[in-house]
Amino acid sequence: MKATSRTNLLGMTPVQLASYFEEIGEKPFRATQVLKWMHQHGAESFDEMTNISKTLRVKLNEQAEIREPEVVSQDISKDGTRKWVIRVDGGSCVETVLIPEGNRGTLCVSSQVGCSLNCSFCSTGKQGFNRNLSAAEIIGQVRIAIKSFGAMDPANKRVVTNVVMMGMGEPLMNFERVVSAMTLMMEDNAYGLSKRRVTLSTAGVVPAIDKLGDVLDVSLAVSLHAPNDKLRDELVPVNKKYPIKELMDACHRYLGKLNDKRVITIEYTMMEGVNDLPEHAHQLAKLLKTLPCKLNIIPFNPFPNSGYTRPKAAAIEHFKNTMHKAGIRTTGRRTRGEEIDAACGQLGGIVEDRTKRTSKLIPLVQEIIPTTTPTAR
Ligand code: SAH
Repeated sequence: MKATSRTNLLGMTPVQLASYFEEIGEKPFRATQVLKWMHQHGAESFDEMTNISKTLRVKLNEQAEIREPEVVSQDISKDGTRKWVIRVDGGSCVETVLIPEGNRGTLCVSSQVGCSLNCSFCSTGKQGFNRNLSAAEIIGQVRIAIKSFGAMDPANKRVVTNVVMMGMGEPLMNFERVVSAMTLMMEDNAYGLSKRRVTLSTAGVVPAIDKLGDVLDVSLAVSLHAPNDKLRDELVPVNKKYPIKELMDACHRYLGKLNDKRVITIEYTMMEGVNDLPEHAHQLAKLLKTLPCKLNIIPFNPFPNSGYTRPKAAAIEHFKNTMHKAGIRTTGRRTRGEEIDAACGQLGGIVEDRTKRTSKLIPLVQEIIPTTTPTAR
């Protein structure tokens, strides 16, 4: 849909929406009504909002809108994984993936068009960076996923039980908008997800981790991928700015701000001969020993010209066993949705690279579901 001069209410937090209504001379409680209509009933227009007076509806139609990004396609794989290609203002596309598993549905949401961090094994990084998504474009992905199952009644809402900010982009580089969208994910009058089921994943933007802990209570995943600075500098270049020690300290500080027993999820995409050797496992075990965490091992999913390969199953098993023996809770990830290109390494947004890093449209990636049974720490 084309951008208009009307104010888009979709991405506004309860506080922002209340001040919007005050600004237009209306009572702030209207915010709660409109929030519920947008996020719990999936309203497309103000005309549907029957508990709002006709005059106010006319006024809202003139000044405001409920605009979500446009669905270009929806694919459903045999295992039930769904993938949406979503066009955002400006014409680029991002992708959203829903992975159903038992009575859980995990939605993988994008935060940026492309990414500026350029991790060596990630195809999003190779696509370059275009722009940050707006809060409406981020929360719109949740609304689109739920609505694809029909009316947004309570039964359908349960199709999304968990959200992970693991789609395209580095969420902490789009801080304010991601915080607004995640606020709506957890807001009772919107999606009402528990803070344990809403996870932000970061490559390790240390100051923003601290800031996040001050403003929002969500679960945190950290994309570590290497147990020492030399290797991590190569795989995750932001490490040169915020090395592993600083990142681990930030993780401890973050956990200190949560007043419960949540742990950090450490993500480790495993590449053959790069970070899958026994010495890496030993270094990693030592590094993680003092951090309350669970380790998620993700076998690398290749994409054209990546230069990396996925380790043999035996190498992954061996690595996992070393971690188990060291008392680190470790899970693996099963590949889902491969035939619709929704598995790890396969998500393909369409990014017009503003950094001119590359003009190629290389498929991007992600896979999200921990599957193996965790062992006790
Ligand atoms: N920028 C954030 C959010 C993106 S999620 C972050 O880095 O955490 C990125 C996740 O996708 C990484 O943790 C990694 O697990 C996964 N990933 C990226 N490229 C991959 C690939 N080629 N194969 C497997 N997993 C990959």
